[in-house]
Amino acid sequence: MTTKQRTELDAASERATAAGIEVMGHGHMKGTNNRVFLVPSQRDENHWHIVRLVGCRLVCDCEASTRGRICVHRASAHMELTVEAARKEADARVVESELERESAKAIRDAANDRRDADRWELIEAGNW
Ligand SMILES: [Zn+2]
Repeated sequence: MTTKQRTELDAASERATAAGIEVMGHGHMKGTNNRVFLVPSQRDENHWHIVRLVGCRLVCDCEASTRGRICVHRASAHMELTVEAARKEADARVVESELERESAKAIRDAANDRRDADRWELIEAGNW
């Protein structure tokens, strides 16, 4: 991504946030299974734009997007994907933390079992 594109994405994200434009629905296309995001139009409150995720590209059906601009709809879908990725990363950290906790407990339990076994050996050998 070039600096100009980043700037245009930032500007589009700021316009979307300022106008309260955000993804209001999502799903998948039949057949291609591409993800789709439903984003309200800025000009017409009764109109919605469909943003499709095709591979790594966000494709919007609005006029600005067909002229190659980063529209508020694509910026909104991008923000949605960014939040979703952050949530998944946070979930992965929680899962990782739980796995590490379980592993540490298993190691402690194994050490305790070994100490118990040593004690039983001493007791059984009469060296208590
Ligand atoms: Zn658009």
